[in-house]
Amino acid sequence: MPGLYVHIPFCEKKCIYCDFYSIESFRQYDSFLDALHREIAMRADVLPHDIRFHSIFFGGGTPSLLTDVQLGGVLEALRARFRFDDDAEVTVECNPGTVDAAKLRGYRAAGVNRLSFGVQSFHADDLQFLSRIHTAEEAEQAIGAAREAGIDDVNLDLMFSLPGQTTERWMHNLERARALGTTHLSCYSLTVEQGTPLARMVARGMVTMPPEESDADLYAQTMDTLAEWGFEQYEVSNFARDGHVSRHNLTYWRHEDYLGFGPSAHSTWQGRRWWNLSSLDRWLDAIASGCLPEAGGELLDRDTLRREYIYLRLRSEGIDLGDFSRRFDADLVADNRAFIDRCLSGGTLQLADGCLSLTREGMLLCDAICAGLE
Ligand code: SF4
Repeated sequence: MPGLYVHIPFCEKKCIYCDFYSIESFRQYDSFLDALHREIAMRADVLPHDIRFHSIFFGGGTPSLLTDVQLGGVLEALRARFRFDDDAEVTVECNPGTVDAAKLRGYRAAGVNRLSFGVQSFHADDLQFLSRIHTAEEAEQAIGAAREAGIDDVNLDLMFSLPGQTTERWMHNLERARALGTTHLSCYSLTVEQGTPLARMVARGMVTMPPEESDADLYAQTMDTLAEWGFEQYEVSNFARDGHVSRHNLTYWRHEDYLGFGPSAHSTWQGRRWWNLSSLDRWLDAIASGCLPEAGGELLDRDTLRREYIYLRLRSEGIDLGDFSRRFDADLVADNRAFIDRCLSGGTLQLADGCLSLTREGMLLCDAICAGLE
């Protein structure tokens, strides 16, 4: 069953490490929202009407810059044009510096049942370095406000491998998250993306990134600690308490279809992938002239689908060999016998009940193992 993504491309201030498409200081949300409603209607007109979606994810950018009325309006437009499960997961990414209890109550009333807070750290100097607009106290208040609003399904994004970060400081972040009762954690290491202010700072020697070994140590410690606290690791970077796995995240990792709306949003639908224009102005112009705002697209051939399936499944639930064989008319183990045997005996892959998956050690080498499988 497919999921649905809406990209809200606005941020109060760009963070130094971020390469997502978003723009600062844009305040004409009404023209953006009018266009978004039109994109939803145009896309719905060219798709069958009986498709049922299981999730909606508002990402960005900073979707929580929208008021409850604006966000509720988008949800209404989606519900008017598409069908959803009664218990569909509806997530909004929130920057803690942009929400309060009243706004979150409004989101809840509009049908939002999951929030994902970009917290990154509970240390003031980390937040300042990352150029986040919120303080650690505001993050804690925002999570409290979510509870007050009746939204218990709460993810926190936290970032490790910050320059100079010690194990102690990282553990403090995990402990704060645990104490706040979060049900889901996404833990990513800080990566230097081309073209960002962080990349320029690193190139000029103003910032030194931690060595790979310390990144691996922090990651291993994260896996062990969260397992001990009862979080299930259901993807390389994602951890959930019982019953709080994100349905929308699984859409991507299970290689299911999803539809994306808004500037720069991607979609994968029945063997075709397309991506929207990554410029607000060009996206607005396309919609104003009655065109779907696609920048490009491609048909996904069998080899691409097979490669992506291996990569996405292996980094999450593992590869069900029967399902693989049905989809691709191939035997993954026979086709990669020597490599898989080496990984099994080396303890980075495991095979149980017809499912090939990464071990804890394998999680640390995920990219290399995926690259070795054809
Ligand atoms: S708030 Fe999020 S989307 Fe916006 S610049 Fe920062 S990391 Fe990027």
